[in-house]
Amino acid sequence: MEKTFAVLEGDGIGPEIMREALKILNVVQKKYGHTFKLIRASFGASAYFTEGSAFPDKTKHICDEADFILKGPVGLAVEEMHQIPQEDRPEHAAILPLRQRYDTFANFRPVRLPASLRSFSPLKEEVVCDGIDILMIRELVGGIYFGDKLEGAATGMKFARDDCIYTEKDVRRVAIVAFEEARKRKVQLTNIHKANVLATSRFWREIVEDVAKNYPDVPHSSVLVDNAAFQLVVNPTRFNGVMLLENMQGDILTDQAGGIIGSLGLMPSACIGPEKGYVEPAHGSAPDIAGKNIANPYSMIGSIAMLFEECLALPEEAADIWKGIFEVFEKGFITRDLTGPWHSEGKVISTSDFGDRVVQNILGH
Ligand code: NAD
Repeated sequence: MEKTFAVLEGDGIGPEIMREALKILNVVQKKYGHTFKLIRASFGASAYFTEGSAFPDKTKHICDEADFILKGPVGLAVEEMHQIPQEDRPEHAAILPLRQRYDTFANFRPVRLPASLRSFSPLKEEVVCDGIDILMIRELVGGIYFGDKLEGAATGMKFARDDCIYTEKDVRRVAIVAFEEARKRKVQLTNIHKANVLATSRFWREIVEDVAKNYPDVPHSSVLVDNAAFQLVVNPTRFNGVMLLENMQGDILTDQAGGIIGSLGLMPSACIGPEKGYVEPAHGSAPDIAGKNIANPYSMIGSIAMLFEECLALPEEAADIWKGIFEVFEKGFITRDLTGPWHSEGKVISTSDFGDRVVQNILGH
């Protein structure tokens, strides 16, 4: 296969974890006889400082020409955000426009912790049981993040407003993707919403129930988002299967899921649009650990596995990468984020050592 990828390494730990991900892409390319052309482009806070825009026109052109996009995390530390005017910050000027440009409406975020690695979780072993295997599918280009925003004053009182809008098309297409995925995997689907309070959630539930009629073979249920947050902690395996979430609720619960399996560094993702998609870690730029070669590259390497799985339809290559990643853990190696008061077993290795070991494992298969 011949493909061109735009590589946006991003900010903070972005360059470090992207470097490891590209090692894996390179070894898989050689092993399976593919030809991948990589074109690097600047994106995020670093692009703002060097080129005056978090999503420069040159980068847009490179992304437009590429088949898929490999994106690292972007953004400054919260206390440093004031260095960039609100409207130019990466969240508003880079991430949301990238999603909108390619209409990447379905965000796949796998939450995987096999039973053999359950000590990574801060939850008790009896809670993690036989392991967590949830595919969270988050709607990515609608809802409150993309609605009109207003900060103003009226009748002497300051106020702020964010509109949350979902159209039938927005909900239906992501629901179809989620049901198709649940059918393919032969698993249950749990629809998350807040229909007891929000009109958009009632509408969301109604459309999802309508889509469900075409999938009588897929067991499905619906759970209120606040209850889901609680259940994810006390009984996460009850969600094993597919979880379908709207944009903001999905943003929050997927980070919570990272906490449940032990680290945000274990959260890769793929963002799928009608024609083009991109892969990225589900977490941010982790400025607190940037430049130290201690970040967990699983999230970015796993995103490469998802590129093969979800974007290129090459499941053998994807399985090879997943196997190579999990073998690192199974041999007793961990990155620093996986040490903590609840888990201290394992030999701590660096970001680059982790990538090298995945490469060796893939070559050894
Ligand atoms: P964060 O996700 O960057 O980090 C939260 C915590 O998780 C930190 O302690 C960090 O060290 C840790 N962590 C995250 N990824 C890790 C990894 N791979 N290995 C080890 N530890 C890891 O959240 P934050 O600090 O709130 O945000 C930093 C910046 O990232 C902000 O500017 C935010 O807006 C941005 N952000 C970007 C994206 C994106 O690019 N899609 C997503 C979320 C946040």
